[in-house]
Amino acid sequence: MSNGATDFIEDARLTALAEGPRPDSARIRDIIAKSVAKQHLSVEETADLVRADDPELIELIFQTARQLKRDVYGNRIVLFAPLYIGNDCVNDCAYCAFKRSNREVVRRTLDKAEVRHQVEALESRGHKRLILVFGEHPRYSPEFIADTVRTVYQVKYGLGEIRRVNINAAPMDHEGYRTVKAAGIGTYQVFQETYHHGAYAKVHPERTRKGDYLYRLDALSRAMEAGIDDVGIGALFGLHDWRFEVLGLVSHALHLQERYGVGPHTISFPRLRPAAGVELPTAHFVADDDFKRVVAILRLAVPYTGMILTARERPELRREVMAFGVSQIDAGSRIEIGGYTEAGDAQSMDREQFELGDIRPLDQVMRELMTDGYLPSFCTACYRLGRTGEHFMEFAIPGFIQQFCTPNALSTLTEFLTDYASPETRAAGKKLIAEEISRMPDDKLRARLQECLCRIEQDGEHDLYF
Ligand code: SAM
Ligand code: SF4
Repeated sequence: MSNGATDFIEDARLTALAEGPRPDSARIRDIIAKSVAKQHLSVEETADLVRADDPELIELIFQTARQLKRDVYGNRIVLFAPLYIGNDCVNDCAYCAFKRSNREVVRRTLDKAEVRHQVEALESRGHKRLILVFGEHPRYSPEFIADTVRTVYQVKYGLGEIRRVNINAAPMDHEGYRTVKAAGIGTYQVFQETYHHGAYAKVHPERTRKGDYLYRLDALSRAMEAGIDDVGIGALFGLHDWRFEVLGLVSHALHLQERYGVGPHTISFPRLRPAAGVELPTAHFVADDDFKRVVAILRLAVPYTGMILTARERPELRREVMAFGVSQIDAGSRIEIGGYTEAGDAQSMDREQFELGDIRPLDQVMRELMTDGYLPSFCTACYRLGRTGEHFMEFAIPGFIQQFCTPNALSTLTEFLTDYASPETRAAGKKLIAEEISRMPDDKLRARLQECLCRIEQDGEHDLYF
């Protein structure tokens, strides 16, 4: 446990807050004004937003989320891909195809040569950022995970390379976290799944490792104490009332911020998806309209935290929700183990953890993003320059985005367009880059950037960043 593991979630309190009376519109407008001033909200204030169900107020929340996305983050969207390493698992989570009692799923762990092969396939499509995903099993020890991370960084295929490797792996002890940190991981992600103790106990059998609610809740505290200052929290929406989960996520973010001086770098809000051999719980299914509220309210509550929207969701919904403040999406994703080289056009449910809603290729997603006015980015500069944790200034310092993020998005996009894009995507990208450059207010910076883009496009240089 961490130095003083505390269970900061009180079911009764959060339930009362989630289910309280409808707030009046003046109160909601006050809270929204606080968000617009880019202050994070308290759990109580967030609770007022989740209880605001008048269509006019919901629309106001959506509008504010769109505005915050533009003001805090700009039009950039960072792209990554998941890479599933192995699906052996000692747990029996009711919702997951990898649960140990499931006989319908094909069990497999990639060996080193297979990992390299998958990474080559990802690099050949233009990916620069990955998240490695593991079941929970003694064979996926911190040493094994660290070794896999190192293997991924070593793969250089053509002009490609992976510049940031994040991980989503079961909770570890301090020593384990030190081991994976030493391998150079980016973000360490672990989702609480549900913050409600009762709901948690229902889907995570007591005698499994994951059955220990507090050990999991405390995982990111231990990670931070072990020196990982870049962590991602998440809840699996559909296991309990979505309103409660939003309050759980905000409580967790505030807990880390208060205790370690650094909040989570990212929040994830996966929604339950069909999975082979699994009967999904339906009592708390989150409808699309409520899912939109989840994303918008989280944006308002924690304006400086990155938000990840995954390919679990369908393309149309992703497109709509992205505008509410999402900062990262995965694209071109396949989650069958070995899926980047072995999967066809259709998904093989017996080989994946759950069914994806969006398996369009990266090139196509890039094109759609740019046509919609987003600036896709593969930037990894902050992490590689040590600008993480409390030094992570991406959101906090005025002008930082203009000075660093936008130029880095444009340089990594130029690499993608030059090395990997189809002619149609390249044309859409060139148009977007010209518009972005013409909008840059600083003449000196614009000249430096133009020189940098020229070096990438014409001289074949790579990995130039600000
Ligand atoms: N095994 C580790 C763990 O449980 O923490 C690593 C992560 S697990 C492979 C990745 C995440 O997938 C889980 O934390 C859970 O939130 C999500 N997940 C599991 N089953 C799902 C389903 N049926 N639909 C959507 N997401 C699911
Ligand atoms: Fe195992 Fe993770 Fe799936 Fe649970 S969610 S069964 S721990 S892979």
